[in-house]
Amino acid sequence: MRIRILGTTTKTTNILLLLRRRRPSTSTTHTTTTYTTTTSSRSARMMMSFCCSNVMPSSSSSQNYSAARLRRTTMKTTTTTASQPRKERQKNNRRTIVTSSLSSSSSESSATGEGNTTKQFVSSLLSWPTRTTLCGSLDISSVGEKVSLCGWVDKQRDMGGICFADVRDHSGLVQIIGAAEGVCENQAKIDEILSSLRSECVVKVVGVVRERNNKNKNIKTGEVEVEVKSIEVLNVVSKSLPFSISESEKSGNAEKSSEEVRLKNRVLDLRRPKMLKNLRRRHEAIRQMRKVLEEEFDFMEIETPVLSRPTPEGARDYLVPARTASAGSCYALPQSPQLFKQMLMVSGCDRYYQVARCFRDEDLRADRQPEFTQLDVEMSFTDADGIMNVAERVFLEASGMHKKVQQPFRRMTYAEAMEKYGSDKPDLRFDLEMTTLNDVLKDTEFPPFKSALETSRSSVKVLVVDDSQAGKNKISNAKLKPKGEIFEDAVNTGSANGVFFCRVAEDGKTLEGAKGLVEGLAKCAEEIIAKSTAPPGSLLLFVAGKTKVVNTALDKVRHKCASMLNLIDPKAHAVLWVTDFPMFEYNEDEERFEACHHPFTAPNTEDYEKNPDDLTEARAIAYDLVYNGVEIGGGSLRIYRRDVQEKVFKAIGMSTEEAEDKFGYLLEAFQYGAPPHGGFAIGVDRLVMLLCGAKSIRDVIAFPKTTTGQCLLTRAPGEATTEQLAELNIRRID
Ligand code: ASP
Repeated sequence: MRIRILGTTTKTTNILLLLRRRRPSTSTTHTTTTYTTTTSSRSARMMMSFCCSNVMPSSSSSQNYSAARLRRTTMKTTTTTASQPRKERQKNNRRTIVTSSLSSSSSESSATGEGNTTKQFVSSLLSWPTRTTLCGSLDISSVGEKVSLCGWVDKQRDMGGICFADVRDHSGLVQIIGAAEGVCENQAKIDEILSSLRSECVVKVVGVVRERNNKNKNIKTGEVEVEVKSIEVLNVVSKSLPFSISESEKSGNAEKSSEEVRLKNRVLDLRRPKMLKNLRRRHEAIRQMRKVLEEEFDFMEIETPVLSRPTPEGARDYLVPARTASAGSCYALPQSPQLFKQMLMVSGCDRYYQVARCFRDEDLRADRQPEFTQLDVEMSFTDADGIMNVAERVFLEASGMHKKVQQPFRRMTYAEAMEKYGSDKPDLRFDLEMTTLNDVLKDTEFPPFKSALETSRSSVKVLVVDDSQAGKNKISNAKLKPKGEIFEDAVNTGSANGVFFCRVAEDGKTLEGAKGLVEGLAKCAEEIIAKSTAPPGSLLLFVAGKTKVVNTALDKVRHKCASMLNLIDPKAHAVLWVTDFPMFEYNEDEERFEACHHPFTAPNTEDYEKNPDDLTEARAIAYDLVYNGVEIGGGSLRIYRRDVQEKVFKAIGMSTEEAEDKFGYLLEAFQYGAPPHGGFAIGVDRLVMLLCGAKSIRDVIAFPKTTTGQCLLTRAPGEATTEQLAELNIRRID
């Protein structure tokens, strides 16, 4: 006798099952057996009534199932009769389908001592049955229909005489139930199979849809159930499941397993409805992107090479040693199809797009993968507004946010974003703003601010947090002092001095707080308050140091305060363009300029005209699309003339020879009448992550890698053999 239901091993369940009547052994006698249940004693029934609510995830009341069981205390079973013609028996056995009139092959498995397991009902032959209906598509309008369903057993419930199961496919799940007495000739056999079902075994069920007595509002198909007329076990689970797939399981749920276990068992992890939903959302987003680009704007999808040439595009390349070229020659996997899409414009393709896989060998973070997917777009003969309009339409169609986000999207210059939010991807779901105080504090004697302002590229900024009405959520000094969460966040982002803080007094003119700071700022208190528009009682948080560090630290502090004060509306959608990025960023460590976007971005025309030979201070015609504080895309107008492109290469310290060697083909293409062009790319993984409300991009990628770049399922990267390496002219150095 089975004493455990997989995944529901509560004490009460076990008691219930132990109380269950013994089933008669079947199939071995080749006779027709009529039997009556004998264990419907009052105490057993009471116990079962009590237990039912523990094993039924549906809203069904326990009494109903006890009653159902009582209705069926007399049961009939028909087994294979020896008199059945041999041919017919063979035919039935081939599919091990149990209908009201056929036998099963269980006699063989019983003989092997396997007992009442699902395995005995699986045919030794393969079959590829079809279905008429998807499990999740049934509703009240389907009542009376005869359907055949295929799927996985999500959960089985044996009420000691009446068996239920939920059968799940990619569309949802539906409850199946053994028929009432007298409906099927072979009901006992069907019951036996139903009772043997284990989570995740694969079945085909033929039955009739009927209205449920006890409706389950929590599932889409909860108004109906399928009364089983025949059932076929197509496959079983022969290994214990690492976690439960069923969403109705509270314990053993995949969400409670470590990500490592989920990634190792990705096949099963993806089978979970939540993960399948993410994949479907991803597919839907990409489908809409393709649709809008092709049908509304006449774009053409063109594939570009995956084996390409190494280029310095910012991140480290993934290299692929080339067997047929000279030793040391490598292909590089594309960081993006940037140069190919620009050359396609020179070729006259006019409007290109691609759902492109990109590869960057960077240090990985939660929202980064070594390979990721971009919707990559390029178009000729258009200005920045034209390109941004296409990107906005793509975003709206992919996200379905037509009603929530209006076109044209909000725009903010990079300079404003950095000044007010310390970030080029500000989260505008909440307001907290910061202000640079360099001019106000130019004569300050307060030592930390004074010394900061004496160095180049440095700032003192203040973030205003009005928590005066926040009651018990008001930000305490303990959080702001050394070892406090906010202070430590600032220090961890590089601000050596942490955060200085004080409050605006009720008079709205003076400051209150630590003596040193308040006295040090006394002379310019009014100016600070006015410039930062800080209301009385508000908290002022100062950070001083290199501007880059100050911005990073205050951005972090801004987010921390917003979450402490519950300022982020989870239903808000803050979408904006950040425009006018600088052409170059100064790399303090390497003491050189590098392209802020990529070196093919066009300079702002005014800035270029003003100083065509020194572009280091120029703005770029570049734009980033930001959604709830996450950069989900970006692009630019491109340089389309060789002379201008050469100037940009020079600005980032690339010699003429190096430029010729690395990008000669692009420079040459520009000499054959390149059209003015521009484009953008949208990060599909990040966008879908936000649309699904997922916490990590790994939850929206079918087979992602860990933060150390490993695939735990296939165990990639794997070691190449010495022979393989030798062919590539590579020798292992131990
Ligand atoms: N290729 C750029 C990127 O990958 C996007 C673009 O400018 O189109 O970020």
